[in-house]
This record gives sequence, structure tokens and C-alpha cells, in this order.
Amino acid sequence: MKAKISTEWLSGCSGCHVAIVDLHEKLLNLADEVEFVRVPVLMDEKGYPEADIGIVEGAIRSVHDREAVEHMRDSVRTLVAFGTCAVYGGPSGIGWLHDSESVFAQVYDGGPTNAGHERPDAGAPRLEESVVPIDEVVEVDFLLPGCPPSPYFIAAALRLLLDGSGPKLSKRTVCSGCTRKMSRRPGTALRKGAVTAADERLCLLSQGVVCMGSVTLDRCFSPCPQKGVACTGCNGPSLNIIREPQVDYRGVLAGTMSFLTGISEADVKAYIEAEAKTFYAYSLASPAIYKKPTVELREWAGDGHRHD
Ligand code: SF4
Ligand code: SF4
Ligand code: SF4
Repeated sequence: MKAKISTEWLSGCSGCHVAIVDLHEKLLNLADEVEFVRVPVLMDEKGYPEADIGIVEGAIRSVHDREAVEHMRDSVRTLVAFGTCAVYGGPSGIGWLHDSESVFAQVYDGGPTNAGHERPDAGAPRLEESVVPIDEVVEVDFLLPGCPPSPYFIAAALRLLLDGSGPKLSKRTVCSGCTRKMSRRPGTALRKGAVTAADERLCLLSQGVVCMGSVTLDRCFSPCPQKGVACTGCNGPSLNIIREPQVDYRGVLAGTMSFLTGISEADVKAYIEAEAKTFYAYSLASPAIYKKPTVELREWAGDGHRHD
């Protein structure tokens, strides 16, 4: 009998669903084993048919999101938080920094394309006060972060789920797939705003560019640093960051960079705090990050109006 798969799209960009479609022949390889019973980007199925595996994209931002994820939980046997928005809030989680009234004021009252300053009417799903990852609302069986998850890891996860186990937790970071070498370069300056550097063989940290590879889960084969662009952490935090309450992106990156370049840890930390919306962009709505004793995201990047 084929395994039934149901998917749902909450507050996300649909990129995670497109990533499933992008599996191409990997999806065809599974065709004899799976039956999709609900896929918002492909099928007009508005109900929640029973399924073996439920795949949820996006974070919880609205009352609709909350009800939808509860329907998913009730209708599937195994629930997968799919993509960094579902697992950590992802880019959708930036709303965690602001309460809903601040968001409305910014977007509808002051938005340049909304000349009449009209707000959504009662027919639109009500925004909740904040943004939360889905495991804050329902029990989740597996987490598959990535923005979006790479086709290789999606196919591997589906294979493991169909075999009755599930995706394994990786201890590796993006650095493990990067061929650049970390080497000490005392006297290197901190390059604020830079995303690349001249030497293609040398680690970006050694060249004064803050690359998040060493604090980011290995779920992508490191395409960005391999193409010369600093990792921005879209797979979400690596295991050491998640496991240890006092270990944060800021401290790890500042310590490594200072060792490699001689730039003071305080300077790197101050830069990361000033650019918190960039360096914490994918995970700031996750309690695993904002509840760390050393993290003050609202102070660094917010408007001070958030309610828990
Ligand atoms: S994780 Fe990335 S690709 Fe997936 S919904 Fe969120 S923003 Fe889009
Ligand atoms: S920090 Fe970035 S550039 Fe350096 S090894 Fe890790 S992934 Fe590569
Ligand atoms: S290298 Fe970093 S930014 Fe690039 S895809 Fe991987 S996790 Fe995302």
C-alpha cells in the first residue's frame, strides 16, 4: 500500500513546497511508494485527509496558521516541520521582534503603496501577537530545516520516513563541506557589510568576513562559501548552538575570528549585535535562540513592543 503524504503551507514563502516539486526524478523514484493527498501548490484540496506523513512549511503567524497546523497534527501519523520557517521561525520569524500593531502601522498606515491606509478587513485571518515555530503549538516528530531544504536531504528524509525511521540529526556544520582553509592572518581588518573576499582558498573568517558556516547545520553542501559568498545561516543553528544554552552564534564567531585575525572579540560581537536582523535572521523566533542568557535580540534589533 502506498504511504499517503499531506502537506500544508503556513506563514512561509512557498519555497519549501517548490523544493518538493524540484525533486524531479527523485520524486518519480518514489512514485510507486507514495500518494500525495494534499499539496496546496499542486492540488485543490482544502480539507485535511488522513495521511501517514504530514509535511508543514512555514511558521505560525495567524489564527489560520494555528488552526491549520492543529488540523495537520490530528490528521497525520508523523508530522515533519519542513524548512527553517517551520523549525525556527525562519525569515517569517522577523515579526517576532514586533507586535502585530507595530507591523500593521508600518505596513498599512505608512506603506507607500497603500495610499488609503486601509487595513485588512474582518475576512482576513487575524494576526497573532507574535511568530512561533510549529513545535511551540503542536507535537512535531521530525525537524528538517533548510531555506528551503536541499533536494538531496528531502529525498533522503522521505526515504528514511518511508523505511520507518526518520531523518538523522547531523553533528556537522556548513564548514564540514567547505574546502576553504582556516588560517591565521594577524592584522586582518573586520570587513563590515562584505559578503566575499579575494582569496578563494582561504576561509572567509580569516579574511575578515563574518561567515556563519561554523554555527550552521550542515544541510546544503556549503554552496555559498564554495561560490565565494559568506554563509548567512539559512539551515538554522548547528547542534552545539542548540544544545548549550550559553553558546551563541556571537560568541563562537567572535572567538574563532579573533583567533584567526586578531580582531577583538568585542568588535565582532558589537558588529553582530548591530546587524542582528541579518545574523539571527533565520532563527530569532525560536526560544532555543532568544531564550539564551547571552542573547538580547529585542534590545539589539527590535522596537521594544513585543509581548510573549
Ligand atoms: S524556510 Fe525559506 S524557503 Fe521555506 S518557507 Fe521559509 S523562507 Fe520560504
Ligand atoms: S567559516 Fe565559512 S568560509 Fe570558513 S570554512 Fe566555514 S563555511 Fe568555509
Ligand atoms: S551555505 Fe549557509 S546560507 Fe548557503 S545554503 Fe548553506 S546554510 Fe544556507
